[in-house]
Amino acid sequence: MTNKYMYFIANWKMFGVLNSLNSLHKVLKFLKTFKNNKSIKLIYCPPNTLIRPMTKKLKKSNIDVGAQNCHENEAYGAFTGSVNSKMLKSVGAKYVIIGHSENRQVGETNKLINNKIKSALKSGLKVIFCIGETLQEKRKRITKKVLNSQMKLGLNKIKNNKNILIAYEPVWSIGTGLIPKSEELYETINFIKKRMKNYKVLYGGSVNPKNINELKTITNIDGYLIGGASQDPKKFIDIIKKTYN
Ligand code: PEP
Repeated sequence: MTNKYMYFIANWKMFGVLNSLNSLHKVLKFLKTFKNNKSIKLIYCPPNTLIRPMTKKLKKSNIDVGAQNCHENEAYGAFTGSVNSKMLKSVGAKYVIIGHSENRQVGETNKLINNKIKSALKSGLKVIFCIGETLQEKRKRITKKVLNSQMKLGLNKIKNNKNILIAYEPVWSIGTGLIPKSEELYETINFIKKRMKNYKVLYGGSVNPKNINELKTITNIDGYLIGGASQDPKKFIDIIKKTYN
């Protein structure tokens, strides 16, 4: 049981069409009667195509909407297929996920991620900055070294900023059903918090209604970034409820 202020961030990845927004009704209904309503911040990060209609649907709620990535350029330009942070802001996004491992795996470098974060902050977006080690790095026991360099380079020349949330997402845990051992996770979150003082640190990677009872005992976590389970309103609600039970 917690009574801490917690973030629940839904990452819909490349899932969802207009009809998918109907699933939000269940979540809105649940929030109306949820007694810990004031202790939580919900943020939905749908594909870019749904940002505008989603912000309209959530207008009367205190749920925020975010994007899943942005271009590094703050200015407009000839970058076919890309969207920058200003454009995301203009359709109602308040947050943007940057540095997700699914994007790091297709070539995003720490330098590029650093530029994206700077551009997002300049445009007035808050950033959900993802870091995490691969299975190979974990096996080599270099998790801390990897996280250290992702934080150092990703946040280079960015002052301690209340507009950044750090999401620790071990790559081997995303979409696999696996989560780190509780003591290990506590220690890693602690390591990040010592290195990045005053930052909120979230955990992401296969969070679901079954493992939330174990995760919620890890007292230094400030919330969760939830992929698969966030697309099912029942599972998403269950995760929130159980966190406070
Ligand atoms: C994610 O995409 O950030 C994520 C944590 O996914 P999942 O919950 O499906 O592992």
